[in-house]
Amino acid sequence: MFLKQHTTTNILSTTVLLLCCCMPLSLPTVPIPILGHFTFDGNEFAGRDFGNQLHSLPWAVLHPKKVSDVASTIKHVWHMGPASAMTVAARGHGHSLLGQAQAPHGIVINMESLRGGEMQLVIKGKSPYVDAPAGELWINVLHHCLKHGLAPKSWTDYLHLTVGGTLSNAGISGQAFRHGPQISNVHQLEVITGKGEVVVCSEDKNADLFHGVLGGLGQFGIITRARISLEPAPKRVKWIRVVYSDFSTFARDQERLISAEKTFDYIEGLVIVNRSGLINNWRSSFDPQDPDEANQFVSDGRTLFCLELTMNFNPDEEAHIDKEIKSLLSELSYIPSTLFVTQVSYVEFLDRVHAAELKLRSKGLWDLPHPWLNLLIPRSKIHTFADGVFGNILTDTNSGPVLIYPVNKSKWDNRTSFVTPEEDVFYLVAFLPHAAESQGLQQLLNQNRRILNFCDSAQLGVKQYLPHYESQEEWRAHFGPRWEIFAQKKSAYDPLAILAPGQRIFQKSISIL
Ligand code: FAD
Repeated sequence: MFLKQHTTTNILSTTVLLLCCCMPLSLPTVPIPILGHFTFDGNEFAGRDFGNQLHSLPWAVLHPKKVSDVASTIKHVWHMGPASAMTVAARGHGHSLLGQAQAPHGIVINMESLRGGEMQLVIKGKSPYVDAPAGELWINVLHHCLKHGLAPKSWTDYLHLTVGGTLSNAGISGQAFRHGPQISNVHQLEVITGKGEVVVCSEDKNADLFHGVLGGLGQFGIITRARISLEPAPKRVKWIRVVYSDFSTFARDQERLISAEKTFDYIEGLVIVNRSGLINNWRSSFDPQDPDEANQFVSDGRTLFCLELTMNFNPDEEAHIDKEIKSLLSELSYIPSTLFVTQVSYVEFLDRVHAAELKLRSKGLWDLPHPWLNLLIPRSKIHTFADGVFGNILTDTNSGPVLIYPVNKSKWDNRTSFVTPEEDVFYLVAFLPHAAESQGLQQLLNQNRRILNFCDSAQLGVKQYLPHYESQEEWRAHFGPRWEIFAQKKSAYDPLAILAPGQRIFQKSISIL
């Protein structure tokens, strides 16, 4: 559809892109002054993602050098108006599952080009924070903050994701029961709207945009900087696993732990169905020096539920922490012979999935298709879900882990765009397989469909996390009563529907003049 006429020569260190469209979508040729550059070839990376199921090449990729490059580009596309089909997607680390960061025939903005920008850490007062570029990886934010003895409070299980990418979704991990998701731990954002305006927003300033962008799936603006809340960083972590064979006991213990005043720092869980190997899985292996029983425990075909806990500490607190752990564990009803404990540094714990990534990469298993399914399930329905799915629809977990853990809704800010189930406690259940010879892509997709059909027919009130829908009808159902607000914000901040087309929520309507 588009003819490209471009030059990437530097004129007074300004790269000029000439966008020109053929009739009937034509507009006068206009230069975009930027300091970075566009690429038109070799852009295959921008047409792929971690899910490795949907691939669409963009027309061009912008590698911005400054935030103003992002603003100029969007402003340009905004001025092209509804006569142009051009769209723009921010791409963080491309770890979406189904094309959410892609822009078929549009412009992908490689946000990682803005990495390495200044990270400003403010320690004054009781609430330290860091201002980080949105294209920065969380692992780099962590390393920077650790130099000052600080760290963000809320995490994802994997840190090689960008700040802007996870804040556009939610950012959920085993700390969320206490601190809320990452979107509950941000004070301020710098955002570029779908009109190319640079807006600083927070709870007190442009709050409507601030809340809209958090969990907003990239629909209202591109985040360029985020002010992230910090806390003192511990040096070490006691990392504990215990196993249950009864789901009700497992869930009761998990729920008790997330509501207790004195509890662990991180609480997650794993489902193990017909697993042929040891309890260690691709996401995290315990230290080979673990007690023998930890290394030898085999699930022997039963459906098991593994509770995963951590307690943070500094070396001088170890004796006290051990006592505290013992006391907390004494209140739990796990299978007594299945207590596995190891200790690692805080960074090793937080970066645990990266260690597993390196192993999978070495076996060629990282770049396979990932038909992941993430569900949020109200507490009152989790037993119905477990009965219907584990060991029934889900007959083994050999292709990847299945996570399950509850979180407290009180820690989620319902002014953000993120939609949760209605109850005070809900569970995240994440099916994270890769398609392999034993279970091919189609088989795993069929399994996902069966799980979703079961949730529908049993009316469990489930919400999907990182969802992918084909139609606006499905998106309306996803947002429920909050759809109107979501759609109003779209009209206010990205009225031409230029941004994040890969989410397939709104389509740019093209009027031929
Ligand atoms: P991308 O995939 O590049 O982008 C995601 C979406 O956000 C796209 O729509 C994109 O257009 C938009 N976007 C990107 N950057 C910006 C920006 N700066 N401003 C506005 N919009 C933007 N999630 C969890 O919550 N918890 C986990 O524990 C977790 N673990 C994961 C482990 C692995 C191995 C993987 C692959 C993913 C995991 N995720 C987890 C999911 C992850 O949070 C999302 O896939 C996230 O979108 C990935 O970030 P990214 O930087 O790769 O974003």
